[in-house]
This record gives sequence, structure tokens and C-alpha cells, in this order.
Amino acid sequence: MYSFDTLLAEISAPAGTGREVLDPATGASIAWVADHTAADVATAVETAVAAQSAWAARSDADRSALLNAAADAIEANAEALVEILSREQGKPLNGPNARFEIGGCAGWLRATAATPLPVETVIDDGETFAEMHYRPLGVVGAITPWNWPMMIAIWQIAPSLRMGNTVVQKPSEYTTLSGLALAKVLNTVLPEGVLNTVVGAGDLGAQLVSSEQIDKIMFTGSTNTGKKIVEASSGNLKRLTLELGGNDAGIVLDDVDPQAIAEGLFWGAFINTGQTCAALKRLYVPDAIYDDVVNALAAVAAAMPMGVGLDEQNVLGPLQNEMQFNIVDRLVESAKASGARVVMGGNPDRAATGFFYPTTLIADIDAHNDLVVEEQFGPALPIIRYTDLDEAIRLANELEAGLGGSVWSSDRDRARSVAARIEAGTVWINSHGTIHPMVPFGGAKQSGYGQEFGVAGLKSVSQPQVIQG
Ligand code: NAD
Repeated sequence: MYSFDTLLAEISAPAGTGREVLDPATGASIAWVADHTAADVATAVETAVAAQSAWAARSDADRSALLNAAADAIEANAEALVEILSREQGKPLNGPNARFEIGGCAGWLRATAATPLPVETVIDDGETFAEMHYRPLGVVGAITPWNWPMMIAIWQIAPSLRMGNTVVQKPSEYTTLSGLALAKVLNTVLPEGVLNTVVGAGDLGAQLVSSEQIDKIMFTGSTNTGKKIVEASSGNLKRLTLELGGNDAGIVLDDVDPQAIAEGLFWGAFINTGQTCAALKRLYVPDAIYDDVVNALAAVAAAMPMGVGLDEQNVLGPLQNEMQFNIVDRLVESAKASGARVVMGGNPDRAATGFFYPTTLIADIDAHNDLVVEEQFGPALPIIRYTDLDEAIRLANELEAGLGGSVWSSDRDRARSVAARIEAGTVWINSHGTIHPMVPFGGAKQSGYGQEFGVAGLKSVSQPQVIQG
């Protein structure tokens, strides 16, 4: 069992070599990490290729048992993982943050191990017999972002391994320690060579994408990088799952009780301090109840402490990096300059240490302000007033992003009929961003393609094979 110190010591490079990892809340040095080279990537890929046939030859039950053992290992080392995640990513220990993420990693491993994917009989009518098998693809390249670095890695690694593939993962360069720590713990139970990790910047990811020995890329990150991956992956017609950027709309209907939905709206938008792909990023509220919804939301937001992740009372943390702080700052300034109303926040201390951006609600904002049409990926929510529901739905659908959406109503049938008109991979009713390991998740439009989780997720890391006759 690792402590924070022993786990950190295992994954760090000698001080002064490689790259220094700084705490986004305090600016303090956490550790140094190696940056891998192109040769290291080639070695990792060779190792994954060499290990794949023996891994695929194990029974499905055997691989599932190892995923359960990996979940046990995560639970046994949970607090060490939590502290590395909290310090490096910035997210607090409590609330839907670091402990929640590590719990999710174990839960997802177990659910992935337990999901049945039997051979399917396609037709058996006395004349024709055909059945569908799901074979391994080979080696999966797993490329992850910095917002939920351990959970998203598990979403890619667990189904890939279950289906008999081996993996080379490349964590975000902003959350290298998290990627290395997760792999270290998983590899206490997995056979050698099955899960390999390369750390460094986007060029290493690009090397995986263009490698002829990688059969599938699971990618979670920005839409721009996703487009580059599509272009660069054609050499061997690599399979792709692309989970890309979102700019999810939430539409409140005029029949809701504002107090009853306020906390759900808050966490829908501010989970992980807004750094979540499928967070509520623009909220449409009818004129008749606009002030009541804004005030109820502001009251919930005012009670949520933001601060250093390791302080047990905090539920909101800093932004993970300066680049993201500057994006949020620019978008809120654009909203302020347009005359939108700052209900709370919007006044960061730019000279302070740490990338803290205060919880910000912006009301009476133009539907085409930059804060509405660009992905903020941080704790600043624009709230757009509407009078005509059809117009709100039109505005919700006019962007290229289509990851998630939500409808808030006390009339479920009415909410479902509005949900059906929203162009997104998932539409939630009276919540936003709620995920479940058995429920497929994936984007519409330029939020990507392919699905993760459940049976659909297992199929997406498999080669379907028909056997007929
Ligand atoms: P990013 O695209 O900048 O980076 C993601 C990963 O891709 C990193 O590991 C990076 O090193 C790597 N990369 C960069 N260039 C590459 C290239 N040319 N080829 C291969 N890999 C390359 O994204 P980010 O800033 O880390 O993440 C934030 C974005 O991710 C947001 O837009 C967010 O909405 C999105 N996101 C989507 C989901 C989802 O499930 N749809 C989940 C989380 C985050």
C-alpha cells in the first residue's frame, strides 16, 4: 500500500531533471517528472504489441477478474491517489471532486468487468445461421485531458483491457503525475506490458495517432485536437472514439420551482469548478421566473467554499492552469464589456498566487456573447433570458458543439418532448452531467463520435466478426 510520499517517490524524476510540476492552488513545487522521447514511445508501443496476444488469449473471466483486482488496488491506495490528484489537478478532496473521482475509477473498473457481452446470434432460421463475435482490435492508444485525469483514463483503459487489447496511455502534460500514479497502482496487479504509459506533450500523442502499430485511438480532449487526430490517423485506418469539447445548454421551463432546481443547476455547471466536458455551460431561463431562478442559484453558489484542494471544507478549487484561467477571464471580461449583469464573481485577483477564478454568474447577457458561444471550461455561467421556448431551443442548437444538454421542468412528459428537440448526445431531465457506467455516453455534431460505457463502450474497442454457416 502506498502513502502519498511513497507513491510520489515512485513516479517522480530526480529533482532538477525533466519538468517541474507546480501546485495550481499555491504555486509550490510538487515534484519533477520525466518527459519521454519519441524513442520511449516506440518502446512502449512495441511492448504493448508484444504483450497483446497473450493478454487476448486469457479468458474473458480472467481479464474481468484482473479488472476487479485493479479496482481493489485503487481502493487500497485511494488516499495516496486522491492527494496526488488534488495537488496536481487542484480539485478539492470533497464534493464531487478527488475522492469522488477515485471512487469512480474503482466503480467503473468493476462495472466494466461485470458488463456481459455474449456472442450474439444474428439469425438462426433453419436456412441461415450467423453469429456476431467481438474480437480484440490489438493495441489501443489512450489520450486524455487534464480535467478528470484518472477517471477519463479508466474510461479508456478498462473497456480496452476487458476486450483483450493492450494499451499505451498518454496523459495530459498538465496532469502527468496523475497518469503515472494511476498506472503505477493498476500495474501492481496487471501483467507486464499490458498497460504502458508515455508522458509528455501533444507530439507524443501525435506519434501514437500516426503509429501503424496502434489499432484504435480513444481520445478525450478539445475539438481542435480531435480534428487533427482524424487527419493523422488515416495511415492504417485506425478506429477512433472522439470525446471532444462541449458547450451544453440547459433550458429551464416555466413550470419549475426555482428553489427545487437551484442546487442541481449549480452542480451541473460548477462540478470540478466548471472544468468538465459535459457541464452546463449556458443556461436559458424564461422571463416569467428569471429573477427567481437567478437568485436561487446565486444563494446556492454563495454557500460553496472555494480554496486549496487539500482543505477539507472546500468544494471548489482553482483552475488547473494559467491558460484556462486566461480563457475564463477573457470571456467574462467580454460579457462585462457588453453590458451584461454580474450577479456574483467576475473579479479575480490576478496578482494572487494560484489560478483561482471566483464563482461567477452573469445575467441578462446577449445570446451571442463570447461567454455564451465559446466553451469557458471554468466557473462562469451565462444565464440567458428567453420569452419563446422555440427560440430557446433554436439558440441551444445553433452551435457546433453537441455533447450534452438538459431540460428542467416539473412536467416530465413536457421535458421529454423538449429534450427530443435538443441536438446532443445526452439530454438530462432535472440534472446535468449525471453519468452511469451502463449508460452510453458520446457526443453529437463536433463534440465527437463513438460511445463509451456499457455494452456500446465494449463494442467500440472491439472488432466485430460475423461467423456464418
Ligand atoms: P487538448 O485537446 O488540448 O489535449 C488533450 C490531450 O491530447 C492531451 O493529452 C494532449 O497532450 C494531447 N494532444 C495534443 N495535441 C495532440 C495531437 N496533435 N495528437 C494527439 N494528441 C494530442 O484538450 P485539453 O485542453 O486537455 O482538455 C480540455 C478539452 O477536453 C475541453 O474542450 C473539454 O470539453 C474536452 N473534454 C471532453 C470530454 C468528453 O468526454 N467529451 C471529457 C473531458 C474533456
